[in-house]
Amino acid sequence: MCSWLSFSQEMRIGLIRTLKIRTISIEAHEGSYSIYGDSTFIGKLGAAKFQLHDQGVKFQQGGTVHVFSKVVIVQDKSNSALMVKSVTPASKVHYFRDNLEITRESNAQLGVVNLVDMNNYLAGVIESEGGGGRHVEYYKVQALMSRTYALKNEQRHRKEGFSLCDGVHCQAYHNMLRHTPKIAVAVKETSGEVLVDQQNELVTTYFSANCGGQTCDASYIWNTSVPYLETFRDTFCIHTRQSTWTKSVGKYAWKKFLEDEYGVSEKKYGDLIYNFNQSQRRAFYIHPSLGVPLRDLRKKFRLKSTYFSTHLEGENVVLSGNGFGHGVGLCQEGAMNMAKAGYSYDQIALFYFSRVRIIDYFRSQFFSQKEELHDSE
Ligand SMILES: [Zn+2]
Ligand SMILES: [Zn+2]
Repeated sequence: MCSWLSFSQEMRIGLIRTLKIRTISIEAHEGSYSIYGDSTFIGKLGAAKFQLHDQGVKFQQGGTVHVFSKVVIVQDKSNSALMVKSVTPASKVHYFRDNLEITRESNAQLGVVNLVDMNNYLAGVIESEGGGGRHVEYYKVQALMSRTYALKNEQRHRKEGFSLCDGVHCQAYHNMLRHTPKIAVAVKETSGEVLVDQQNELVTTYFSANCGGQTCDASYIWNTSVPYLETFRDTFCIHTRQSTWTKSVGKYAWKKFLEDEYGVSEKKYGDLIYNFNQSQRRAFYIHPSLGVPLRDLRKKFRLKSTYFSTHLEGENVVLSGNGFGHGVGLCQEGAMNMAKAGYSYDQIALFYFSRVRIIDYFRSQFFSQKEELHDSE
């Protein structure tokens, strides 16, 4: 019995959370749909508007006005799609696969939740986040990471009645997959696969645009070290558009920040406070004993990365930096170049997350449940 092979997981994704939706318009985009009010079949979905009402959700169907505490719009055949648009307040038109649930959340808003097959959700996420034109092995890496993230954070919005939201707070999911069929292939071919660490825990899948040639240790940014997020050399991302940068900061502003925040004064250290050579990634500016974390300088002066060196030129501190983003975990430009060079998705994932494994999540759940059953016998 291979129950995991046919296992597909349904996700609950909270939609358009940036607006307090009071009226939403919904119609079938592909296939046909039925409307259920509190589990009772009401009729076929035409183009309908659903409104916030004191007692729940209000809509008209066949000349009758209905109010239910929960409305579910269910596809007649799998893989159908809906066109969704908030009317009050107005939103863009969105397209989502599978089913939709509408409830009254409060006096101010409706809750609209997409009940969507995991693979359909992931394809929408990858297109929303990355767009088109990438290598299929790179999309597979994204599928692995997004699936791992989704399962690890399944409880994130539990109190609001769904798993994940559609914004960057969780993973951007603006639409179903529309333009890049290669993404669907990548999701399907990695179906069920996730990254786990040596304790079999789902990995925290950090990524940034470009690590600048050396990834950043998680502890440099968040003070806690993670075994699979250690620093290492990455030669796949150098000589790319985002691999280097320069910036000038006024000498006075630099000096003032170091003195006010950390007591590192020019009086005491002279011009040394402007000169810093970072050939290898470090956590602190100049020397750890000064107590100036590079992440603080990045934040204060809005720098592209913490991987930079400095020197003085007249009245300016000139920074020459590498990379874009925090640099922890997967480096997107490096991973894209690996895919182009012929590396497979598992080689890429295991290069950026060291000492992790790729497992079939649902299969492992199945076996661990079986073990538990034996244990309790
Ligand atoms: Zn969220
Ligand atoms: Zn890199």
